[in-house]
Amino acid sequence: MTIILGGGISGLSAAYYAAKNAKITSINLLEASNRLGGWIRSRVSPNGAVFEQGPRTIRLVGAAGKNTLDLVEDLQLTDKLIHIELNHPAVKNRLIYSDEILHLLPTSLAGFFKTTSLLNRSLISCIWSDLRAPKVSKEDESIHSFFQRRFGQDVADNLISPIICGICAGDAREISVKFLFKSLFEAEQEHGSVVKGMLLNRLQRSKKGDSAGTSDAESAVPHGGLAARAQAERWTSWGLQGGLEQLPQTLADSLKERGVEIQTGKKCEKLTFKPDHVELSVNSGGTRECSRVISSICAKDLAELVQEQHPTLSAELKAIPTVTVAVVNLEFQENVLPLQAFGFLIPPKENLPLLGVIFDSCVFPQKSTVLTVMMGGAWFEKYFGPNPTEEQLLKTATDHTRDILCIEEEPVARNVAILKDCIPQHVVGHTQRVKRIREYIFEHRIPLGLCGSSYDGVGLNDVILSAKQVVRDIVK
Ligand SMILES: Cc1cc2nc3c(=O)[nH]c(=O)nc-3n(C[C@H](O)[C@H](O)[C@H](O)COP(=O)(O)OP(=O)(O)OC[C@H]3O[C@@H](n4cnc5c(N)ncnc54)[C@H](O)[C@@H]3O)c2cc1C
Repeated sequence: MTIILGGGISGLSAAYYAAKNAKITSINLLEASNRLGGWIRSRVSPNGAVFEQGPRTIRLVGAAGKNTLDLVEDLQLTDKLIHIELNHPAVKNRLIYSDEILHLLPTSLAGFFKTTSLLNRSLISCIWSDLRAPKVSKEDESIHSFFQRRFGQDVADNLISPIICGICAGDAREISVKFLFKSLFEAEQEHGSVVKGMLLNRLQRSKKGDSAGTSDAESAVPHGGLAARAQAERWTSWGLQGGLEQLPQTLADSLKERGVEIQTGKKCEKLTFKPDHVELSVNSGGTRECSRVISSICAKDLAELVQEQHPTLSAELKAIPTVTVAVVNLEFQENVLPLQAFGFLIPPKENLPLLGVIFDSCVFPQKSTVLTVMMGGAWFEKYFGPNPTEEQLLKTATDHTRDILCIEEEPVARNVAILKDCIPQHVVGHTQRVKRIREYIFEHRIPLGLCGSSYDGVGLNDVILSAKQVVRDIVK
């Protein structure tokens, strides 16, 4: 029997790929809480607006993006899919709030040559900075330090740092460039300049006829009709009508039909690897046995389960930190937005508790205006202390959002959630750490597979692909 820990999207996906594999016969999924879906949670306001508490859009990038669309097609969710094309305002219009102004990032090639209000220089001059900056050989480095060296302090502070807040609610001074911007990092290491390296790589790929630049094993897998349509129509991202939570819900229904046993309210508290089986302590008392375990839970949580038997592995897992995010959804009756856009991000140097605000009803139209305010992240304790109340968070989110967007109207509905330890942080040295973790498991012949957001990326495409990969690895 294979036991999967965690009923978020990666655990459910691991169960899905395992159930499709003839070599895996008996599958049991244990989820600690009383619901499935993990951080994916859609709520509906009293007026019928969709409030996404976690993720809302899935990007269509490379083989991982196509793989997720194959899953959607297989689950017969295609009719519910809402896609966003390249010329959509939510794709073109991206804003950064700095020095009390909302700055629109350049939307055309001509815009690259004009002085941007955010940097007080043109983006083309940033490219020039990179071409002149000397190469420095590094094993890894923080994203902030990398962009500061190559493109200038203003780019690192005003442009890149808020983007990192948007990607992982993290501090660009801590996140690994080698992990998150691997191709940019390698471009400098191999060609001495990011711009030069990217251009040369593009040229080489077009010679080989590989336009997407995907060289991993996954790119060799043929994809379904939906992925082909998405590529032909140049979709950039997509969501689901009625909310993204339908993805884990439909996945769970399909797993039950395939005979996978799913149990909620079952928290694994300890893993003991015996010579011929694995013993799981579940909910203080009960024990389970199986031949192998796939863990989709956060590395920090898994560290507790293996602490007694494998303290070295546990210490490595514990060293992958997480951040807490407060999410506040606000609904306004009228159109209160200054322009149609994805939303705005805020550089940490502004010293505001907000990471950014997403204009949900612009991304996926709704009858009212729906905004989501993200707060805290790497700075959660600094702004809110250890135990903020929901009222305090709601007031902070509403006051700042109304102030920045000059909204006079009061929200007609709201939702507040504190997502504790929700996003793992891939800090400097992450690639090497994950390599050491996987080597340890391999060398000690531990029947344990790892997937989920702690290891190979936090995007939904990443975690779904990591689930597919772990199933491939364990049957090898
Ligand atoms: C606010 C927010 C916005 C986001 N926006 C986007 C977005 O727009 N697009 C995108 O692609 N990604 C986005 N992400 C990232 C994405 O949502 C996550 O990376 C993804 O949902 C993680 O899924 P998971 O299954 O790996 O982990 P989780 O969702 O954390 O699931 C793990 C599950 O394991 C359970 N568990 C924990 N311990 C145990 C145990 N001991 N025994 C049994 N079960 C246990 C937990 O209860 C949980 O249900 C966002 C994330 C957040 C927090």
